Amino acid sequence: MQTETLYSQSPPYLETLNDPQRQAVETLDGPVLVLAGAGTGKTRVLTARLAHLLHTGRAFPSQILAVTFTNKAAQEMKERVSGLMGGAPVEGWWLGTFHALSARMLRRHADLVGLSSNFSIIDTDDQLRLLKQIMEVEGIDTKKWVPKAMLHFIERWKDRGLLPAQVGSEDTGDLADGKLKGLYGRYQARLREINACDFGDLSLHMITILKDPANATVLADYHRRFRYVLVDEYQDTNVAQYLWLRLLAQGTGNICCVGDDDQSIYGWRGAEVGNILRFGQDFPGAKIIRLEQNYRSTNNILKAAHAVISNNEGRLGKELWSDSGDGEKIFVRGLWDGEAEARWIGEEVETLQHKKWALNDMAILVRAGFQTREFEERFIKLGVPYKVIGGPRFYERLEIRDALAYLRVVMQRADDLALERIINTPKRGLGDSTVQTLYAYGRAKGIALYDAIMDLTQTDELRPKVKTTLMKLLDDFARWRSLVDNMHHAELAALILEESGYMQMWKTDKTPEAPGRLENLKELVSGMSQFESLAEFLEHIALVLENQNTSNGEFITIMTLHGAKGLEFKAVFLPGWEEGLFPSQRSMDENGLKGLEEERRLAYVGITRARARAYISYAANRRMYGNWISAIPSRFVDELPPAYVEVSADSGVYQAGRSSHWDSSGFKPQATAPRVVAERKVMSEDGVILARGDRVFHDKFGYGKIINIDGHKLDIAFDKSGTKRVMDSFVTKA
Ligand code: ATP
Ligand code: MG
Repeated sequence: MQTETLYSQSPPYLETLNDPQRQAVETLDGPVLVLAGAGTGKTRVLTARLAHLLHTGRAFPSQILAVTFTNKAAQEMKERVSGLMGGAPVEGWWLGTFHALSARMLRRHADLVGLSSNFSIIDTDDQLRLLKQIMEVEGIDTKKWVPKAMLHFIERWKDRGLLPAQVGSEDTGDLADGKLKGLYGRYQARLREINACDFGDLSLHMITILKDPANATVLADYHRRFRYVLVDEYQDTNVAQYLWLRLLAQGTGNICCVGDDDQSIYGWRGAEVGNILRFGQDFPGAKIIRLEQNYRSTNNILKAAHAVISNNEGRLGKELWSDSGDGEKIFVRGLWDGEAEARWIGEEVETLQHKKWALNDMAILVRAGFQTREFEERFIKLGVPYKVIGGPRFYERLEIRDALAYLRVVMQRADDLALERIINTPKRGLGDSTVQTLYAYGRAKGIALYDAIMDLTQTDELRPKVKTTLMKLLDDFARWRSLVDNMHHAELAALILEESGYMQMWKTDKTPEAPGRLENLKELVSGMSQFESLAEFLEHIALVLENQNTSNGEFITIMTLHGAKGLEFKAVFLPGWEEGLFPSQRSMDENGLKGLEEERRLAYVGITRARARAYISYAANRRMYGNWISAIPSRFVDELPPAYVEVSADSGVYQAGRSSHWDSSGFKPQATAPRVVAERKVMSEDGVILARGDRVFHDKFGYGKIINIDGHKLDIAFDKSGTKRVMDSFVTKA
């Protein structure tokens, strides 16, 4: 094997590194933990270290185990290392995500856990189907104990590296009538019978194998093989992954992990930042290296981010500096509503484009998926190419397509594809065979599915229960159709989603995605108000969906804050900094202070993605499901020291940073009292406060007088159309 001395001068990838970075790259023996803030070059250090190991002949690619957080990051690291190595392709990598690497290992030893090497890896749908079957066999009420919720428990145990036998009864309580632990066991047995794994099993099975003294040769083999272990984004590993790493690295002890406790944002998925704190205990003699120079951002951005994260307790604590000057202040902007926010960001994007900034250098980072809609609409209007990374575009999301399908059938009953999509969504007991029967009949007669249903429900062709269900569905559609001309289309859409049981379906759904889907549906309804009619809205959607692959070249990125970890952009837009949205109310409700602190770390991740410019915005009003909700700026906005921000606001919008709770030194805000979130007001479409007796105007019903207010519902005596109940947000003050 070659040695370092082969190189008379230091290789190019080392030359640009600062001293501690270089130390982290060159300390090849023994455990190393690089604990450092955002943008300090942790990923760069890992990449250089990989190159260095190869370059110095310390190891072949097949002897290095390198873990990244995403497949994309793995790909980038591969490219960068082969770039550093002079472009030669590097073969035989063990470089990838925990999942990918574990799967690869498990295929080699599947028999040791009762699988064969061609096992399949199943997704959430299959996991649920399997668990549900087992629950039914066990006679557990799946209405009371929703399988999705039960699966969640099982997955968290797997994250913690617990096999069924290791789950304590105190962990299960009376879940699934006290049978949850048994269910977990049966679920595992069933997976084995069908030769399958879920994602959690990938590391869990490997831990089982590597820990078993009977397999000592397997472990010894890996110890011989992997001379070096490298891990990026270490703060977001869960316990099972940690155990997996520890087992593999204990052979040589040559493990290098890089991470930042301030960027731990996957607690909700089982990640344990405590793994960082355990490192020193598990790998005695670990060298801890801190990096403090940030190469990504200007000082204003860094200091602002630092001030925000300083509000968290129990941090390991670190401060960053940058020699790239103060740069520009962070732009903080208060806007009237979500539409104004999108318009403002659109204008700023165009201004930057005029200054020759590339779209590829800009990103909009949102807290919640539903937020993308407003920006997508704006960019389509402006003709600015964009990509939603890490998820489908708004109108392509499952729940949005479902909702649109309902609306399409209402507008056009011969829309078979739409009807087929939702005929049994939510579940109505109309299985595939019923749909086949209906289709076969329709085809024979040359008529649409809807008409086939009309015909067949007049006969005794179908089972009575199926017939009743279908008749109810036809009734519903007929009623909704009759409302098209008498009700505001957004109100109608909300009504359809409620009456069809579609909203309910997601409300009772316990998967982590469900709340986001509900938010998307509400956003869909809110967004409809911008259009004249249902027909016009559907037309618009059809065009939006068609108008997709407009550009292969430059585009602005829209993604969630979670997805943006590890990335950087010259300009970053951070919209929706309002209490309840960010920090997310759900996260705070479910996890209290811990939840709030994870949200704050997310804010830190967001700000530190920016190289030169960061824009933070909040809206004073959000239309949620047809209701106007008045929002207050996020507490994180208040945590930004005035010295590093430039605040402005639309007229009439509270201007953060100018209010009395900022102290005179201008540095740190005094503690603010806990705030009431999303206080509701009865407000007209144009934001005017309404009271009984006010005269108002409604698009469909004309002028009238408010005779009663019930929450957001107004009873209005209309001059020409009699008394009607409408939502406050659909009227303007006359
Ligand atoms: P994060 O915590 O966000 O993952 P990180 O610590 O992994 O950040 P990197 O992404 O590795 O940071 O580096 C941030 C930026 O700084 C990159 O553009 C990188 O190329 C640059 N950089 C890092 N170290 C140096 C250096 N010594 N000289 C010049 N540029 C550097
Ligand atoms: Mg990184």
